[in-house]
Amino acid sequence: MLSDKLKSFGVADAADINNCWPTEERLKKGPVVVVECFQEIPCNPCETSCPRQAIVVGANINDLPQVDHNKCNGCTVCVSRCPGLAIFVVDATYSPTESAITMPYEFLPLPQKGETVEALDREGNARGAATVIRVVNTKAQGKTPLVTLAVPKGREKDVRFFRRR
Ligand code: SF4
Ligand code: SF4
Repeated sequence: MLSDKLKSFGVADAADINNCWPTEERLKKGPVVVVECFQEIPCNPCETSCPRQAIVVGANINDLPQVDHNKCNGCTVCVSRCPGLAIFVVDATYSPTESAITMPYEFLPLPQKGETVEALDREGNARGAATVIRVVNTKAQGKTPLVTLAVPKGREKDVRFFRRR
């Protein structure tokens, strides 16, 4: 069931995110996909692009994607394929003090590795500084490059975008 915030404003709240969040046990094993897709629309590139069949939409293309986090190895292939920019990869094992979040980024110019940026939550609120640790922009990403941020541990559930300083 969707939260009132999501139904009214299109912004997922904590309960919506908890429904698609990997278990603590899975998070401890390394990078894993987080699919924040809440609307029943005819769409399935997440399913067709995943080499490990970790995401299934199924016969009815309007159904929401079902994710098996234990099949996912965090490869990030599906992140660039999602037209809704609704897929992220979270690595809670990045370092003892930081988590890494890989997100789709369709703005130019792209940030540089090592750059400090302002992390933003789903509503555009500032969530402190983050460091760009990877930028991937090859033919495989099409027109949706990937940017990975390192954020303080505990922010991996909230940070979903950033602003360059
Ligand atoms: S990150 Fe890779 S393995 Fe995981 S769901 Fe996406 S495409 Fe599949
Ligand atoms: S590709 Fe993205 S928008 Fe489409 S069903 Fe999958 S997660 Fe949802």
